[in-house]
Amino acid sequence: MIKHKGGCICGEVKFTVNLDEKPRVFNCHCIHCRKKVGGMITIIDLREGAIDIDKSKLGIYEHTGGSGKIIKKHYCKKCTAPVLTYVAKWDKFYLYAGMLDDISILKTANNIWYEDSHFPFMEINESKIKV
Ligand SMILES: [Zn+2]
Ligand SMILES: [Zn+2]
Repeated sequence: MIKHKGGCICGEVKFTVNLDEKPRVFNCHCIHCRKKVGGMITIIDLREGAIDIDKSKLGIYEHTGGSGKIIKKHYCKKCTAPVLTYVAKWDKFYLYAGMLDDISILKTANNIWYEDSHFPFMEINESKIKV
């Protein structure tokens, strides 16, 4: 596990997170993520207790995901940047990858819900699409 730092654009939310050397990263093209942030999202699968963050600085927007189960988007209360997402279906937290200060460690990602809803100009190698 390697410790990384991150935070939102206004600086109110800062965190440290322990990630595997090769973290599991997903680009989610689903309509819910798209409508929530205005584009495709990239998230990192977090191990339990991996992130050290002051949750009192985060607001929560709750909605129902494609599975019918709850998803909770955690965002900075001040600048509204998305920080974490909790997916009840997997009982897991995911970090919005762009919140890391250094994204050069993220070498690869799998694409999910690509077939259902992706920008037509975005062509992705088939081996990187998870169905
Ligand atoms: Zn999604
Ligand atoms: Zn902020």
